[in-house]
Amino acid sequence: MLKLNSQLSEISGLGENYKKLFAKNNILIIEDLLRNFPYKYINFNRTTKICDLELGNYSAIKVTITDIKEKISYRRRIYLLEIVANDSTGMIKFTFFNQPYLKNVFSVGKEIFFYGEVVEVKKVLTLKNPKYSFYPQIQPIYHTIQSLTSKRIAYFVRSIINLNRDIEEDLPNQILEKYQLISIKDAIYKIHLPRNNQDIYTAYRRLALEEVSYIMLNSLKIREKIKKQKAYLVIIKQSYQRDFEKKLDFKLTASQDKVISEILDDVSKNQPMNRLLQGDVGSGKTVVGASVIYQCFKSGIKSVWLAPTEILARQHYLKLKSIFSDENINIGLLTSKECLIESKVKKSSFLDWLKKGYLDIAVGTHALLQDNIEIKKLGLVIVDEQHRFGVKQRYKLKNISQNQAIIPHFLSMTATPIPRSLALTIFGDLDVSQINELPKNRLPIITKIIRDEEREIVYEKIKTELDNNNQIYIITPLVEKKINEDDEKLFDLDSKKAAKEEYEIIKKKYPNNQVGLLYGKIKSAEKSKIMDDFNAGKIEILVSTSVVEVGVDVKKATVIVIEGAENFGLAQLHQFRGRVGRSDLQSYCYAIAQSKNLVSIERLNIFSQYNDGFKLAEKDLQIRGYGDLGGLRQSGMMKLKIARLSDKILIKTAKEIAKEMITNKLFDKKIIDKKLAQYFYHLHLE
Ligand code: ADP
Ligand code: MG
Repeated sequence: MLKLNSQLSEISGLGENYKKLFAKNNILIIEDLLRNFPYKYINFNRTTKICDLELGNYSAIKVTITDIKEKISYRRRIYLLEIVANDSTGMIKFTFFNQPYLKNVFSVGKEIFFYGEVVEVKKVLTLKNPKYSFYPQIQPIYHTIQSLTSKRIAYFVRSIINLNRDIEEDLPNQILEKYQLISIKDAIYKIHLPRNNQDIYTAYRRLALEEVSYIMLNSLKIREKIKKQKAYLVIIKQSYQRDFEKKLDFKLTASQDKVISEILDDVSKNQPMNRLLQGDVGSGKTVVGASVIYQCFKSGIKSVWLAPTEILARQHYLKLKSIFSDENINIGLLTSKECLIESKVKKSSFLDWLKKGYLDIAVGTHALLQDNIEIKKLGLVIVDEQHRFGVKQRYKLKNISQNQAIIPHFLSMTATPIPRSLALTIFGDLDVSQINELPKNRLPIITKIIRDEEREIVYEKIKTELDNNNQIYIITPLVEKKINEDDEKLFDLDSKKAAKEEYEIIKKKYPNNQVGLLYGKIKSAEKSKIMDDFNAGKIEILVSTSVVEVGVDVKKATVIVIEGAENFGLAQLHQFRGRVGRSDLQSYCYAIAQSKNLVSIERLNIFSQYNDGFKLAEKDLQIRGYGDLGGLRQSGMMKLKIARLSDKILIKTAKEIAKEMITNKLFDKKIIDKKLAQYFYHLHLE
């Protein structure tokens, strides 16, 4: 007998492989599967006639299959299944790659529904990555997990959907009645198997309200808890701040001054700070962090600075060393590959230094959060680009302090913009500081959307900039072109640029310049060398995948070319663009678009119109109308499972519910913890 807490492998047809894949997304037991919601639906109900299809739209059609052909592509040696179909108004063709079993699914004369983006391939109309169905149903679409397709997930969910009757209700009756919410059992059923849009809506509303109200409840509880905790009190002196500013070769902006005083005010209290520093790319968050570290150092309090990548950790380490070069301050770098204090040291000595409190600043990646790490007098933890940080790692932060009774002050920094009011509503436990200007003398970056045919313009510009001794980034969506059976985007492979190939092309194009190649899997030592060389201007053009996405700071870089720009989200594009324009030199961002998809082109146009990350995020929210907030959904800040943050009414109602539950004592801590595990992770330091 299956139960909600049965292992997934007890579902018939779900073997070890699938079990492992599900586990990657934390879906371990049957209840997890029921709480893994579709992110969208395909309505095969609403069909368009072939003659009315418009390129770039997502449409459903109802057609009859007229021809099926099997082929092997000679160039790549992969299996192709070609299907021709029609309705009374026209003809359409589909090609499926590497899916021989489909031959037995389709047959000539069969009526079938297809859904996908309307495109033309060699002048013939088709749908890109088409989904199909034999009924005019509403089909839930789940996030695929590698080779585990949405269809397969839907199949497993259907086979256990009746267990919805055992799911416990976690919202009090009083709330359900007052806000006219359907029961959890109904909501779970309808979110997976809706009969109509009304079903989707009522299920979404119920589940999303539950999710957001519990997030808010949790935030309020955390705030209460933090108030009772103890932290080291840092003695702030204006003179230290003046000394610090003398170390910089620029003047702080008014915004930087303001956020520094907000932060210093926090750390001068003996309750832990829990603050989020937001500031657009290039707004100068690093020196803000450094100035706080300096005050801590002067009080004999140790700091940790965490960065999400080795490249970034190393960059911060070097930066802090140069800022503090005239101080007697011990700075160390620890990543899984590197261990430095002045020069290479053994890891055991590094850990020993931390334990004895000899290191004033430890910079590192998640390697700094290993279980055996213990830091004496740890008073400040800074997490840079915290949206990139993993969940479990964040929880470990608490444990590295030697004195467990003292909680470090916590400052996280991010360029992923969340509208401030929203941040404050949702993260009731967090204080938010915002840098809202760029350093003086920055010229707005000129962003251009370039069609593939026009790329010569870009190469010319690169030449001019190289002649002026400036540097170039070229970003590609892929490392190399490789056939990957699971890749849904196989279809696009031909048109996508890959770093390894691009590197060869660029080397030939600019034979007199030094070109570097960077991607995730390159060995660390080599990565550091490449970044050091790029920093020093020894490499003039850096061809890279998205590994340089965040934080990297090279002042002489004035051009960034983003190949296949339509493959990236707005937030990510903005991060890339932030790699240039980091000095008073005029900088340029060229987004090269391969796709003619109207939605992506529209997105790129918006990208070129707005230079300000916060405005861009708001626009993103408007266009897409759902709560991705340019990456927040995937961001470490919080992983919302279902609620859309753009849904203002939802957020307001959730706030009411949370307050009501507190006032009337309608919840207990156990349920909050359960919800935490089920729905979301709250990532700030508790
Ligand atoms: P981010 O906010 O993206 O982390 P960084 O801290 O890396 O930005 O700063 C971007 C660049 O601007 C760095 O090279 C930094 O030294 C420089 N910078 C920071 N503050 C100022 C300022 N007030 N005036 C001029 N340059 C500044
Ligand atoms: Mg930064």
